[in-house]
Amino acid sequence: MEHKITLIPGDGIGPEVIRAARRCVEATGVKVMWDVVVAGQDAIDKYGDILPKNVLESIKKNKVALKGPIITPIGEGFRSVNVAIRQALDLYACVRPAKSYPGVKSPYKDIDLVIIRENSEDLYAGIEFQEGKTETKELISKIEEFAHKKIRQDSGISIKPISKYASERIVKFAFEYAVKYNRKKVTVVHKANIMKFTDGIFLKTAREVAKDYIHKIIFEEVIVDNMAMQLVQKPKNYDVLVLPNLYGDIISDLCAGLVGGLGVAPGANIGDDMAVFEAVHGAAPKYKGRNLVNPTAMILSGVLMLKYINEDNAADKLETAVKRILAEGKSVTYDLKPNRDDPTSLGTQEMADAIIKNLK
Ligand code: NAD
Repeated sequence: MEHKITLIPGDGIGPEVIRAARRCVEATGVKVMWDVVVAGQDAIDKYGDILPKNVLESIKKNKVALKGPIITPIGEGFRSVNVAIRQALDLYACVRPAKSYPGVKSPYKDIDLVIIRENSEDLYAGIEFQEGKTETKELISKIEEFAHKKIRQDSGISIKPISKYASERIVKFAFEYAVKYNRKKVTVVHKANIMKFTDGIFLKTAREVAKDYIHKIIFEEVIVDNMAMQLVQKPKNYDVLVLPNLYGDIISDLCAGLVGGLGVAPGANIGDDMAVFEAVHGAAPKYKGRNLVNPTAMILSGVLMLKYINEDNAADKLETAVKRILAEGKSVTYDLKPNRDDPTSLGTQEMADAIIKNLK
């Protein structure tokens, strides 16, 4: 069967790692017809629009996309295209496995965590009020009136909405994921002791949902600051973590750090009937076009994508080939060498070539 898949090269190092991942996916023998669409800087140059309509239309039609990272300029200007895609398509579950691979430098071994981050609300909902604007001042005075608390007049305000609806569907997603992949435990991560009405809803809803899985999956609750410490001290005590958007973003980078960094951390953004697969890392602009960066995170995102489209054999084959190359430590990019200046380091495409040669 031929799969139609949207391919978004992205910018910065995006096109390089996407090319590597595309070649690896194709080399598994799975038939793919790629619908290549551009977003990010290239789309501005070509169409004057950072996220042209045809990008979302293509994903809606094909239901699956493989996406390279896209630069988000800091401060003024457009908001993140990455966040815009997740919100426009309601890809509410961000799934980020953090798994140890022998050969990848890390103080830890045998880590196998899955971070499930709520993707649609929280401080990422994009409801912000700029310091000094008339509406911001009006909002500040309204809040002062309702909450009987003082806010400094020169403040900017970001709104953190957390709903019962979104909390319920993400926690259900986490439990269903745990059941499907034979996981033992789901840990809900929160700060409900301080944010009683937002994280409070998340926690309360998680407790309710957990009741339906009581005989199958262990449920526990951990406050986010404690979670950060626990993950550094005893990461093996955890299995599947489910978190609101902002904590999920931070904790998933922490977990990527536990298993050797962003170069090996894959991810997926999943909705009810479509999904976009992308590495956790960004567009690393200073490495753009240099054929230097590690393609592993993007290739492993391709592995997650193959599983999603029910090409389990191809997914296993590709993951095994990646594992072999990592464990051997010869045919890898500079960041995976004990010494980053190692002259035997391979380029992005050459590492992908080595993986392809190892597909059996
Ligand atoms: P980044 O992940 O792009 O890079 C941080 C550092 O991590 C790099 O300088 C590099 O040293 C290392 N790194 C990242 N990917 C690597 C790889 N594949 N191989 C080897 N080393 C790698 O993070 P940043 O510098 O904070 O962000 C750069 C841009 O990317 C920003 O505009 C940001 O908004 C964007 N970004 C996009 C996404 C996305 O598209 N989903 C995610 C994160 C950041």
